[in-house]
Order: sequence, then structure tokens, then C-alpha cells
Amino acid sequence: MPVPLLDLGAQIAPIRREIDAAIARVIDSNQFVLGPEVTSLEQEIADYLGASDAIGVSSGTDALLLAMMALDIGPGDEVILPTFSFFATAGTVVRIGATPVFADIDPVTYNIEPDAIEALVTERTAAIIPVHLFGRGAAMRRIEAIAESHNIPIIEDAAQAIGAVDEEGRGLGTIGQVGCFSFFPTKNLGAFGDAGIVVTSDSDLADRMRLLRVHGAAREYRHDEVGGNFRIDAIQAAVLRVKLPHLESWSEGRRRNAALYREKFFERGLSRDGALYPDNSHPVALPASPDGSDREHIYNQFVLRVERRDELIEHLRSAQIGHSVYYPVPFHHQPCFEPWVPDGLSLPHAERASNEVIALPIFGELTEGAIDEVVSVVEEFFGGGRSEEEAAE
Ligand SMILES: *Cc1c(COP(=O)(O)O)cnc(C)c1O
Repeated sequence: MPVPLLDLGAQIAPIRREIDAAIARVIDSNQFVLGPEVTSLEQEIADYLGASDAIGVSSGTDALLLAMMALDIGPGDEVILPTFSFFATAGTVVRIGATPVFADIDPVTYNIEPDAIEALVTERTAAIIPVHLFGRGAAMRRIEAIAESHNIPIIEDAAQAIGAVDEEGRGLGTIGQVGCFSFFPTKNLGAFGDAGIVVTSDSDLADRMRLLRVHGAAREYRHDEVGGNFRIDAIQAAVLRVKLPHLESWSEGRRRNAALYREKFFERGLSRDGALYPDNSHPVALPASPDGSDREHIYNQFVLRVERRDELIEHLRSAQIGHSVYYPVPFHHQPCFEPWVPDGLSLPHAERASNEVIALPIFGELTEGAIDEVVSVVEEFFGGGRSEEEAAE
């Protein structure tokens, strides 16, 4: 039985009529960019997250760019970020003309290691960008303490973490000066195309981001500064407004599926509770579940660690089991970032993760039968693989 990595059709089907009506409403309104749908979405997202302002933008990438522009980050500034994330986290820092400073990750959460940040702070540090990777928060309490002691703003890359909370129950994306979210279709809250949002509780920063979103024009053809076109489409806002009330239950479904995977991998002896790395007797290391509130993880991705990852990929491919590697190459090994990588830089936790991680299907509509199938295909691989290796010894 093939199992896709993500099936957006299954998510959309039950709300299809509402979505069609929302899109029709936009067509009838003749207002396709910004406008009342966008204003309403901004209010609803701000309320949902507990921030005072939200500003809809064209993508998560543009959210990061806009946040850095509004904080006046540019040439000569250094920005500390994890070396293990989606490309945009580092790409936007370079595009704005600043210097990316790559930090290693915590091997348990895959998020930036706070001690690594402390060691990298200089007089030129203009921002820290923690990424809440896979839907789990970075260690915000410790990161905040470092940022505050050096008076450095935090830009949270919460693209994968909408609705998740940190260890103190605070909404991710609302803790730093700015939180950046993506509504790319594969995120927990996905649009029908590219879209994103920035949130802040600093009203001056909010005003500045609103201005920079429309070429720095406070009124038509009067430009106080140079911004860009970072606007969100009304159709995306209308679709997102239909989806937002379902977000909690979709994330709940992802958590339920994570718990089912856990149960099944343990039952079959493929994994054991609390193991950080795979070993010979337990070839699968599962994502650590948070100690505190359930909402500390929304599983935008369900990421395992295995040895012989690339062989497992071949096996999953032939069994038609959806999978993906987030991320196979850390930033400090990307050719385009070479000018900003100190000679001989080694970030071992990220390097190891990039060789071991693999994401399995986790979307909320996944059935228990499909999860069983995925676990069986993984078991088949390691079952066969182990005895072959033993035979060879
Ligand atoms: C998706 C993502 C982005 C970029 O969002 P887009 O909407 O695709 O531009 C940035 N950072 C992280 C961690 C992401 O997962």
C-alpha cells in the first residue's frame, strides 16, 4: 500500500465548500492584493498567537527579509543562526548584505544550541535567528537571556511551528522582537500558494514593516524609504481564514500519529524510549517527545535518525512510502555560503544529523493502517539488513 508523505487533498476535502465560497468572495470583491480579507487574517492570527500585530506577507522567506530590513540589519552586521535549517534562514541574511554566523545544534531537538550562540556573540552581532525546527521550539529561555544580556534582537524563524509553545507555554514566534511564519502549502497552516506573516508586539516595528511591505510608501507615490513588494494575496488570506480554525485539531492529529509511531516502533523492538542515536539493537532513534505540554511539538515533520539512511531511502522508494530528508547539507557545507565559513569550521551535531535524519509521513489524516504499513516497511529493511550483516561477519 503506497503512503504519501503528505496528502493535502484529504485535509481540504471536508472544508472544500467553505474554501470555494471564500475564493468566490474574493473574486466578487475585486480586491486581490491586501484589503479586508488580509486585515481580518492579520487580526485572527495575532489573536490566535497572542501578539499585538501581524502583517501578512508574500512568503516565509520575505517575512525574514522584511524583519531584518525593519531592524536595519545590513552590511557589517553579523546574524547568528543554526547551520541546520531550511535554506531561507541563511539565504535571507546574505541577501540583506549581512554576515551569517553558523552555530551548531542541540542533537535532541535539532535546534540552535544556546551555548554555541554565547560563544559567537561579538560587537557586530545584530540579531539571533533561532529556528523552531520541525515544529518544536528552540531553548527560548536561555536564548532570551543571552540576547538580553548583550542587547541583541531575536528574530524567530517559526515557519514550521505555528501554534506550538515553548517550555514556558509562550507561543512560538511571539517571544522575540519579530516572529516569522510561512504559509507554504506543506506547513501546518498552508495556503494555496506562497504566503507568510510576521508578528510583533512592538508597534513601531509593526508600522515600519507595514510600510516596507509596500515599497516604503505611506501613501501612494510618496516613498519615505525603499522597501519592496512583500504583499500577501487576498485569495491566500481568504483560504487561510477558512483553515485557521482547524489548525489545532490538525496539529492534534499529527501528535496522535507521532504517538502511534512511537508505540509501533517500540512494540517491534526497532527503537527504545529516550535513545538519542540509533544502534545495532535499536536501529531507529525517534524524535524526543517534550517533557512538558503537548503543545511543545506540532510535528511539522516527524524525523527519525537511522544509520544507512540512503539505503533506507531506496527501500522506502521501492515500497512507495513517502519520505524526505530535512536537511541533507548543513549551511556551512553549502557552496554559496563558503565566503562566510571560517576555515576548518566543524559543527559535528549538525553534520551528523544531516547524514542520519529522515522524515516519514505524519499528516493528520494519516490512518493507523498507513502508519502500520510505514513501520512494517522500515522493519523489513532493518530486519533484512541486520541478518545480512550478521551473515557477512
Ligand atoms: C518554509 C520555511 C521558510 C521559508 O518559507 P517560504 O514560505 O517557503 O518562503 C523559512 N524557514 C523555515 C525553517 C522554513 O521551514
